[in-house]
Amino acid sequence: MARRTKIYEGKAKTLFEGPEPGTIVQYFKDDATAFNAEKKDVIEGKGVLNNMLSEYFMTGLTNIGVPNHFIKRLNMREQLVKACEIIPLEVIVRNYAAGSMSKRLGIEEGTMLPRPIVEYCYKDDALGDPLVSEEHIAAFGWASQQDMDDILSLALRVNDFLSGVMYGVGIKLVDFKIEIGRVYEGDFQRLIVADEISPDSCRLWDIETGQKLDKDVFRRDLGSLTDAYSEVAKRLGVMPKGATPMKPTLIN
Ligand code: UDP
Repeated sequence: MARRTKIYEGKAKTLFEGPEPGTIVQYFKDDATAFNAEKKDVIEGKGVLNNMLSEYFMTGLTNIGVPNHFIKRLNMREQLVKACEIIPLEVIVRNYAAGSMSKRLGIEEGTMLPRPIVEYCYKDDALGDPLVSEEHIAAFGWASQQDMDDILSLALRVNDFLSGVMYGVGIKLVDFKIEIGRVYEGDFQRLIVADEISPDSCRLWDIETGQKLDKDVFRRDLGSLTDAYSEVAKRLGVMPKGATPMKPTLIN
């Protein structure tokens, strides 16, 4: 079999050239990192769960008309996605205070915010992905004003969708991070949701018990990460193994 061309290896995923121009194969690894890769481990099964969960969320977004990179899942660890130019920003949406926002502003974790708050971090591992303002983004040309309007609208649509889906299975969406990509279609370009949506990039708390079902389990040594992610997958009817996996269907 021909060797595939690796395009990029990140902390949790590896990207390979796809079979058609404009496509990429996204491989989900079992590697877990936190605190800008200061804490590292291999969590068996994490990649499979995130592949399935990201498929589930991206397919749902497609079905409500939110453009994203997902094309199809190829196997347990890989999915085919549209190639895009990643905007160098981490777009964070928060419904409740937690993590870095709680530390920065001294707000107790779990405090409901008066409205969803969108934050932007500049994607640069060497700098630890610093928080930036729209002024920085405009001044340094990382995105245009039109891009920022589109990014805000995408982020809030993803928030409403994900909050609702998670609420339906007894989980509170505290916050999440997405990445946005630019695709060119003929003379047009548009922005789409890219990267992944999984418990690696969200904070998910059980509504009844407050139990954490996301990467904080790894960051804060709270138990088994695969148990937490499997619980999310089970509630959503997305299980890699097991009796009756409910496949998300793509509406064309
Ligand atoms: N997040 C992420 N990747 C990052 C930074 C943050 O996926 O590089 C997610 C994180 O899992 C959480 C949200 O974005 O759901 C907000 O993270 P926060 O700024 O509180 O940072 P943390 O406390 O995780 O360092």
